[in-house]
Amino acid sequence: MIESLSLTAIPAAAESIRGELRAFIQNEIAALAPATRARSWMGFDADFSRKLAQRGWVGLTLPQQYGGAGLDAFSRFVVAEELLNAGAPVSAHWIADRQSGPLILKYGSEAQRRFYLPRICRGEAFFCIGMSEPNSGSDLASVASRAQRNPHGWLLNGRKIWTTNAYRSHYMIALVRTSGASGDRHQGLSQIIVDLSLPGVTVRPIRDLTGDEHFCEVFFDDVQLGEDALIGAEGAGWEQVTAELAFERSGPERIYSSAVLLDEWIEYLRARGDADNATLALLGRLVGQLGVLRALVLSVCEKLARGGSPVVEAALVKDLGTEFEQQLPVLVADALAAFPERPVPPPLLKTLAYITQMSPSFSLRGGTREILRGMIARGLGLR
Ligand SMILES: Cc1cc2nc3c(=O)[nH]c(=O)nc-3n(C[C@H](O)[C@H](O)[C@H](O)COP(=O)(O)OP(=O)(O)OC[C@H]3O[C@@H](n4cnc5c(N)ncnc54)[C@H](O)[C@@H]3O)c2cc1C
Repeated sequence: MIESLSLTAIPAAAESIRGELRAFIQNEIAALAPATRARSWMGFDADFSRKLAQRGWVGLTLPQQYGGAGLDAFSRFVVAEELLNAGAPVSAHWIADRQSGPLILKYGSEAQRRFYLPRICRGEAFFCIGMSEPNSGSDLASVASRAQRNPHGWLLNGRKIWTTNAYRSHYMIALVRTSGASGDRHQGLSQIIVDLSLPGVTVRPIRDLTGDEHFCEVFFDDVQLGEDALIGAEGAGWEQVTAELAFERSGPERIYSSAVLLDEWIEYLRARGDADNATLALLGRLVGQLGVLRALVLSVCEKLARGGSPVVEAALVKDLGTEFEQQLPVLVADALAAFPERPVPPPLLKTLAYITQMSPSFSLRGGTREILRGMIARGLGLR
């Protein structure tokens, strides 16, 4: 496993996107307060996503025949890195760009590709992830939502939870049972696309600790789906969802969730100009760690660019990345608290408060730390 994470650099073609993109982002987000930017991939702005799409920066790994740019995973890395470091509000298109589009490309029918992918690339079709259920989180194979074949296609019943952006998305890709019982585990699972405007779908947002509403409960009561709702093969849902999770876990968002806080803190230290040695040593350590994590994300990216599905490598990097993201607000708070007589500017304080409240979720979303470590142990042949 270790040798499969080799050191790599961003190819010049991918790097060349950065300058124009950075200027565009700075112009668009100039008026946003740091605590708003700190939401980064939880920040929702459909207009921003559409403008980004008009410039060709959404769905850019999808083939040109479906409206994408036909570029590689490195190009997407550069775009994602710029957006996250700036704290741009990307969550409207994020899930479609990162995983739903690539999943439809890989497993969808030609008709599904033609229908969904161009709209994803135009920033017109927003997706959410329907994996977790009230009794199925880490133990995803126990999902109980069920789609049953009928003469019109599929009749869907069940319930999903923690579905990010369900109330402002057009579609959900849901993992459901199409045969057998929940005790059958990996057998009998399939992925379906649910149009969230259909009768029988009820979406209820859940407010989190920070006061934001992003994730939701979603109820399906006799939702009639067409025959064409099924993605890939019936019963192949487990294999497909595993590949989808590799897309979900392999990007730079797992190291940059606290990036705006780090930047704001550095700005504050620069403005004061009197940082003590302990603070400087801490900052050096954090920046060093971030550099190493970035290299690891790039090596996962290289595997994706070669057409691989780096499931275990992505789990390893996500685990390390979220640990870094979670430590950052604690260490910054301690460093600031070491000088109680120095006033902390309110924008920095608000950013710190937001990241502090949000950070416990960093190692839950996309698969918990314990689950990832189980996968790493399996990758090492220990389980
Ligand atoms: C901000 C946020 C956004 C989210 N967005 C989405 C979304 O868009 N779509 C979606 O489907 N889900 C989403 N989730 C849900 C997320 O994927 C789940 O919370 C996660 O998979 C854990 O499931 P759970 O909450 O049911 O916890 P549980 O599975 O009940 O786990 C509780 C604790 O027990 C531990 N545990 C469980 N099983 C084991 C085991 N076998 N060995 C050791 N430890 C174990 C876990 O690591 C965890 O610490 C989101 C969550 C968050 C926080």
